[in-house]
This record gives sequence, C-alpha cells and structure tokens, in this order.
Amino acid sequence: MTALETDFKPFKTRVEDALANRTLKVAIERTTGTARLKRAAAVSTWPNFAGARDLGRRIKDHVTSNLDHYLIEFERNAIASGAKVHWASTAEEACEIVVDICKAANAKSVTRSKSMLGEEIGLPLALEKAGITRVETDLAEHIVQLAGDKPSHIIWPALHRTREEVAELFRKHHHTPQNSDEIPAMVRSARRQLREAFLRADVGISGANFLIADSGAVCTVTNEGNAELTTTIPRVHIVTAGIEKLVPSLRHAMVLLRLLVRSATGADFTQYTTFHCGPKRPGDADGPEEFHIVLVDNGRTHMLGGDLNDMLRCLRCGACMNHCVVYRQIGGHAYGGTYPGPMGSVLTPELDGLAGSRDLVHACTLNGNCQQVCPVDIPLPTLLRGWREKSWNEGLEPRSVRRALWFWAFAARHPFLYRMATAVAVRVLRLFGEAGWVRSMPMAKGWTSHRDFPKPASRTFMEQYRAAQRRARK
Ligand code: SF4
Repeated sequence: MTALETDFKPFKTRVEDALANRTLKVAIERTTGTARLKRAAAVSTWPNFAGARDLGRRIKDHVTSNLDHYLIEFERNAIASGAKVHWASTAEEACEIVVDICKAANAKSVTRSKSMLGEEIGLPLALEKAGITRVETDLAEHIVQLAGDKPSHIIWPALHRTREEVAELFRKHHHTPQNSDEIPAMVRSARRQLREAFLRADVGISGANFLIADSGAVCTVTNEGNAELTTTIPRVHIVTAGIEKLVPSLRHAMVLLRLLVRSATGADFTQYTTFHCGPKRPGDADGPEEFHIVLVDNGRTHMLGGDLNDMLRCLRCGACMNHCVVYRQIGGHAYGGTYPGPMGSVLTPELDGLAGSRDLVHACTLNGNCQQVCPVDIPLPTLLRGWREKSWNEGLEPRSVRRALWFWAFAARHPFLYRMATAVAVRVLRLFGEAGWVRSMPMAKGWTSHRDFPKPASRTFMEQYRAAQRRARK
C-alpha cells in the first residue's frame, strides 16, 4: 500500500488515536482558534454581512437551478478563448483524462496547486500509478507530501503537523536544507526546493475556485502565488473543477470571493486572485501552450434537486470545521474521507456510500454552529439528520441502537412507564456520580471514557414539577 492509499481502520479506532494524541489537539486548537477569531473580526466589521450571505446563497441556488444553461455557456466561451474542455462523469474518468493529457505531453514531472477536487477524485494516486512525478506546490500540501500524509483540513492541509516536525521533514528531504527552525528560514528552504520543480515541470495542474460562465475564465485564489507559477511556467495547464463551481459572471464571483476569503482566513482578500483565460496568445510573455479544463461531475448531478441540493452551494471555505466541536477534538484524519468536519460528514456518505460512513453522520452534536458560520447558509445539521433517517430506514443502525430506541419510543408513549424508568435511571446514575460528575459507568465505558455526565439532580424534572404544583395548591 502506498502512502496515498486508504487506511481502513474503523472510525472509532481513528477517533481514539486522535484523542490520545495531545500534540494534535494543541495543533488543531492553535489554527482553528486563530481562524475563528479572525473570521469573527472580519464579519463584525462588514456592515451588511447578512445581506451578502443571502446574496451569495441566492447566486449559488440560481446557478444550480440553471446548471445546464451555465455549463453550456461556460464551455462555449472557454473554447472560444482557446481552451480544450473535457467532461468527466466519474472520478476514474477524470483521472484518466488528466493522465492521458500528461502522457500526450510526454510529461515526466507535474506541479500541482492545492485542489480538494483533485484529492476527491484520487488524482495524486492516479499520477503516481502512471509513473508521473508529482510535486505539490502549496506549502502545506508540500509538507503533507513529504510526510506521506493526507490533508487534514481543506484550507490548512498540514494543520496536524507542528513546526518542529516540519523543520525535521525539510532537513531530511530538501536539497539545501535550512539550519534553523525559524519559520522564515523554513519558508526559504521550501521556496528553493519548489522553484526547481516549477522550472522543471512539463504540466501544471490546478483546481478552480470559480468558473466564470460569460467569459470561460477560471479563477484561482492562493496566498502563496504557487497557483500562478504552477499554471504559467509549464507547457500545459490542466484545470480540474467540479461543475458546481460555475458562476454567471465576474460580478457574481466577486460577491462569493469576499464571502469565501473572510470565512476561510478572516482576510479581506487573498494575496493572489487570478483569472486564467485560455492558453498563451501571440505576443504574450508567458503562459501555457495548451489549456485544458476537465469538468467533473462525480455525483454532483445526483445531488441536484435532491436532499443534498443545498450542499452544491459549498465554497470549500472550511469555516464549518473551524467551529465544529467534534472536529476540534479529533481533527481531519479521523473522518477518513477527503472532506472532514461537518461538510465532510454530509458529503462522504454521498461520495463513498452510507454503509461505510454511517458513523460520520452520528459524529455531530447538532449544535448548529456550522450552519451559523457557513457563508452560504447550508443547513448542515438538517442534512445530517436526513442521513441519520436514511441510515435508520435502510437498516444500517446496529441492533442494540434499534432496540434501545424501540424501548424509548414505547416508554415515551406510556407516561407511567416513562416516569418510572427515568426516576430509576436518575437514581442509578447518581450512584456513579462523584464531585458533580459521572466519569465512569459499567456497561457504558465506550461513552464515559471520553465524556463526563453532570451528576443528575436527586429528583427528575417531573418529580420537581409535581412537588412545585403541590406547594402552589397549598
Ligand atoms: S459547508 Fe459552508 S462553512 Fe463548510 S466549507 Fe462549505 S461553505 Fe464553508
């Protein structure tokens, strides 16, 4: 198995590994904590954030309701600008198209700028299997590649690595390693290493943040400028993009860009926002000779008009995971799929099947933080509840859960039995309580090993309520 192939540990084992890793907890909190503060500051200084959010939601909904129209418009304008447009229904088809273009270009080495769609379709592994050298040029992706890891966050893929670990990796793998653990020295070291790869690459592969229908342009945003070096130096530029990335025009892209950047990093704008429009033209100083756009479906048309239609609005900003109480405890790798956090728990069952990701749809407290911070108001808790219902209806829930819920439903329909059961449960729970908390219970160790219950009050709510009524009648 290569580093890129999937590790099939069960979800619970992955969670236990993550919870036992104290360094990971510190790394997650450091990054997501800063992101939360910066986002809150950016939103509080935006006079009409709610209005922009609503407009963003409406733009995305308009595009998904008219996807056929905008796809055709985009293709027509992209071809007119000199691009070659390819259509891929599945992840395999998309990888095949990219590998074929690389082979036709006789590519030995490709550079890639960060693209979650590339991860989703398994492009790194497909390139590796085709014997093509791949160099990740986003600094965090570069770290992930050197470590043989997978990304653990959609904006900060190497969030799980500490500075000391990164310094060690660079010392081990860079041709001219840095002799200091200071961040500027490490950045210089990565820059030296990556610059050689940029100049050597035959093909550059990027993703797309937006596809502009009325011009056929592809928009990428980065903070390091690596997308520009990836796409302008090599002879061939390949864009892989999900079909939901369409927007009608530049004006619409600007609304979503402002929402995306503020939600992702709390900045006003990214350092580099580039619109790529066709290959190099006569007289251009630089740019690729060939410009390919691979439009990828991979389940998106299946989501269209269905229960997951709202998910097609996702801008991949990462705000939902930064604010998720579960993600902040376990990090991204524990989720197992390409996309972690709340949006990952909604998307993974669609991409990989519900049977294998049933645990993910339960790994949520439904507190609603994710929807509240989502720049396009995706009802993630509702979508997760929908998956839970489907899991129940398809008989995927374990027998013990079905029995417990059957008993609960039965008791809830018989008030006397319900009151008796809760009165007994409260008294039993109190036996295990210590200093206000229940930290361990026999037969429920799986629950209490990572969670503490507040010790219940000595009487149930109903008992206290009836006592209060009696007092009031006296
Ligand atoms: S679901 Fe919303 S908050 Fe989460 S990544 Fe997508 S757009 Fe951002």
